[in-house]
Amino acid sequence: MRLHLGIDDTDSRSGGCTTHAAAVLVEKLSLLGCKFIDYPNIIRLNPNIPFKTRGNAAVAIRIDIRDDMYQEIENVAIDTVEKFSRIGEEGTDPALVLLRGDPGAEIRHIARASLYELLSAESVLRVIKRSSATAVLYGAKLGIVGATAAVGQTLKRDHTFELIAYRTERNRGTPRRLEKESVMLMHRIVPETFSSYDEENRRVLIAPHGPDPVLVGIRGETPRAVLHAFRMIKIHEPVERWMIFRTNHGTDAHFQLERQTVRAHSPTVFTGTIARVPIRTRGGHVFCSIAGRAGELNCAAFEPTGSFRKVIAELIPGDKVTVFGGVHAESNGTINLEKIVIHNLAKSLLVRNPSCRKCTKRLKSAGRGKGFKCSRCPDVVRKQPKLRLVRTRKVEPGLYLPDLRAHRHLTKPFGRYHNERVWDGKPPLEKWHSP
Ligand SMILES: [Zn+2]
Repeated sequence: MRLHLGIDDTDSRSGGCTTHAAAVLVEKLSLLGCKFIDYPNIIRLNPNIPFKTRGNAAVAIRIDIRDDMYQEIENVAIDTVEKFSRIGEEGTDPALVLLRGDPGAEIRHIARASLYELLSAESVLRVIKRSSATAVLYGAKLGIVGATAAVGQTLKRDHTFELIAYRTERNRGTPRRLEKESVMLMHRIVPETFSSYDEENRRVLIAPHGPDPVLVGIRGETPRAVLHAFRMIKIHEPVERWMIFRTNHGTDAHFQLERQTVRAHSPTVFTGTIARVPIRTRGGHVFCSIAGRAGELNCAAFEPTGSFRKVIAELIPGDKVTVFGGVHAESNGTINLEKIVIHNLAKSLLVRNPSCRKCTKRLKSAGRGKGFKCSRCPDVVRKQPKLRLVRTRKVEPGLYLPDLRAHRHLTKPFGRYHNERVWDGKPPLEKWHSP
């Protein structure tokens, strides 16, 4: 029997991590003799949903089992979710979904919609009740959305891999001890990894900073690449366990639809022309407005996007662009820019008076319709139109992304464009998790 398990929202503000609970469960299922048909999948959902923390992720585990193993597996899964969840803490509403057989059209639809929309727990629960799935829910039951979406999102098309190593319990909450130089070296030597090191800001990006159990998360194009990279990093604290996941990280999965409408909590892709000269605020944010078919749209490049703001600030009315971003609950309909494609630049004209041919000083107007005169040379009067100079633009057409540190989990980094892949459906490598 084919069995898909979805887990979501075991996280809470005080630490805990859905992928960690999943890693423990995978080890237990492995000991029970389950056959894994895929790496566990980490599925990031619509990043604009207000009640989700930034790091939140849902996980799916896909296995083949003997029919008589089902009950034992359900028991083990429930035990693990309960043990690793902060049940009872505010904002922690874990869920476990067990689907017998492969996901049908309705569950696959939930998986797609969860990237763009705000789905209600009730509507997802109705679908689960009509299917061959069992849902185990806690708290406000909100985890059902992510758990079901993870089951339905089988990542047949573009995907990446992430090797996550976890810290032992006694070290959690302390600074992570790894050698920055080894990360820089890995970043240079293993080209099939991405978002490991921010050269511009000299920052290590593989280690989070919070109290969660993740020690490092190494992203890459293949399982071999992330494993190779992991072995290169010098870590000076014990690694509790590690596991390779297959994910929609770095795939722009939330921007697969052209949407010319702007809705709260949804990703937006909007094409139009710059309507006004962009504004730079004291906080270092840059705002611009774009006129398109669906009206005018306000966009913001916030301070953490770094040098991306310079690109936005250089835009002028008439530039043709496509913007990608999301509308948050708090932002009054302003799009938080995640990327921009500049299609065409408008001509930037500088209108000037001509210069004096004798002394090269710029001429002054001699009065309406009378041409120009020189303030130094009394004999010079010229009748000619004003000069229209084309100013060289400081931006070029093309794709622009924020600084690496401002990338979302789903943001597709430069190196992945034209490197998108299709899943070959092969079972995991021989060695893809500890011990
Ligand atoms: Zn002159």
